Amino acid sequence: MKIGIVGCAGRMGRMLVQTVLSTEGAEFGGGSETASSPMIGKDCCELAGLMPSGQLVTDNPRELFERVDVVIDFTIPAATAEHARIAADLHTALIIGTTGLDSAQQGLIEAAAAQAPVVQAPNFSLGVNLLMALTEKVAATLNEDYDIEIVEMHHRHKVDAPSGTALGLGLAAAKGRGVDLDTVAQKVRDGHTGARKKGDIGFATLRGGDVVGDHTAMFAGEMESVMLTHQARSRAVFARGAVHAALWTGGKAAGLYSMQDVLNLD
Ligand code: NAD
Repeated sequence: MKIGIVGCAGRMGRMLVQTVLSTEGAEFGGGSETASSPMIGKDCCELAGLMPSGQLVTDNPRELFERVDVVIDFTIPAATAEHARIAADLHTALIIGTTGLDSAQQGLIEAAAAQAPVVQAPNFSLGVNLLMALTEKVAATLNEDYDIEIVEMHHRHKVDAPSGTALGLGLAAAKGRGVDLDTVAQKVRDGHTGARKKGDIGFATLRGGDVVGDHTAMFAGEMESVMLTHQARSRAVFARGAVHAALWTGGKAAGLYSMQDVLNLD
């Protein structure tokens, strides 16, 4: 399958180009960047630290979507919304790793999924998707005497908080408990907050250094705690999962799929 990478000069974009080129069954179909990027016109593979391929970074995503089977998007929310519009027009499969989308942008993803297969995941690693399934199971087993806190740490460049993965873990915990996350989520604590409310799902965000992504779902009881932790040591795990998802879309009907669907974890 021919795979295009939008945002191919980004941290994830470069890793994705490398991963597509080293994955059996995947063919690199080209990459795009934002029109103002100094990377336009440069060789996509050379940017990824590989031998030049002659495939130059384009600022025309529509033309890229036309000539590939599936596009992988780890960019910024506004760009992902625009790419979803193009995927809908051209019925091109789309893999979305971008996090921090607002509800209008999410609406465009859902509209695209009515026209083409779309896989969207806050985290494409196998380990984190397993962690989500386990979090749901533990939350369904332990009652509200166990306080749920989601703790995450990422590198200093990350712009959204809590991370998409932390929110995904919160959703998994809420699903396990049979509650609505929006009504129990406690995303910020500062000053005189009062005692913790029973049933809340708390979030704590740490930022620093070059941490790729650490997540813990904590179930704190009175005499014991259960902690489920995942640590990503390389962006390669996300790239590998995203390319796996891209190959999985071959022959799939239009629809919005998760990584749980791709990995058959449900
Ligand atoms: P980054 O800033 O290094 O890369 C983003 C790239 O997108 C940049 O090169 C930027 O120029 C490019 N871009 C912006 N607008 C564009 C447009 N209109 N067209 C094409 N390219 C455009 O960021 P990153 O660390 O690679 O992360 C990107 C996103 O992926 C973030 O939202 C991050 O949270 C998310 N992420 C998700 C996962 C996951 O598994 N789902 C894993 C890691 C990162």
